[in-house]
Amino acid sequence: MQRSTLLNLHLKLSFMTNPKISRLIKSLESKLETLELDGAKVLSISKKTQTSLQTNPGEPASSPKDALIQFKNEVNQCVKCGELAKSRHSVVFGAGNAKAKLVFVGEAPGHDEDEQGLPFVGSAGQLLTKMIEAMGMSRKDVFICNVLKCRPPQNRNPNPEEIINCSPYLWRQLDLIQPKIICALGKFAAQTLLSSTQTISQLRGNVHDCRGFKLICTFHPAYLLRNPTDKRKAWDDLKKVKAELEKSV
Ligand code: SF4
Repeated sequence: MQRSTLLNLHLKLSFMTNPKISRLIKSLESKLETLELDGAKVLSISKKTQTSLQTNPGEPASSPKDALIQFKNEVNQCVKCGELAKSRHSVVFGAGNAKAKLVFVGEAPGHDEDEQGLPFVGSAGQLLTKMIEAMGMSRKDVFICNVLKCRPPQNRNPNPEEIINCSPYLWRQLDLIQPKIICALGKFAAQTLLSSTQTISQLRGNVHDCRGFKLICTFHPAYLLRNPTDKRKAWDDLKKVKAELEKSV
């Protein structure tokens, strides 16, 4: 189904008072947008990919995108963190370009992300989109994910056991995508990726080595919404990311 058809359907139903239908259509629109963003042709995943996912999940994938889709399928089944697996609506694997040169890593999905199964779709996500656009890129150029793939109840902080459970998925994502640079958004992502206990203020400002990947830390967009005066520092960090990307061409 085309996005325009969904949009028309949404408009036709907008005067109706069924919030469940409206939410479902919004979520479908958003999922279609993400499929478009990562370069997939909407509803046209190749038969070869579908067959390999359905019949031979262990078989090597033929492209980074296939490998990522195959891996997403595996992570979707994960129940390593009992509490999170019980309370989640979705596993939020991540979204974007499977061959991205730049990967953003945040902390964990929030309410909107859990509902829609997509990363950074709430107000912090809108700010992240603006930050990416300010760098002269769009969300379809980058890959966006989190350390935890499931929402902690009431948006509590991830606990150490959950980070240990989920971080192998993040490492595998990075190995599959092979970005030129990683941008860690906030304390949890920065500390996990760098195995550090330093604060985000101590970690930002430098280009770090993260298992062979270059990594730059900046503030989480949710923090920036609460502390807009630090947006200037975040912009300095993004300029560093951009400069490193330009060097890598
Ligand atoms: S947070 Fe990660 S490790 Fe824990 S249940 Fe979700 S996908 Fe599995």
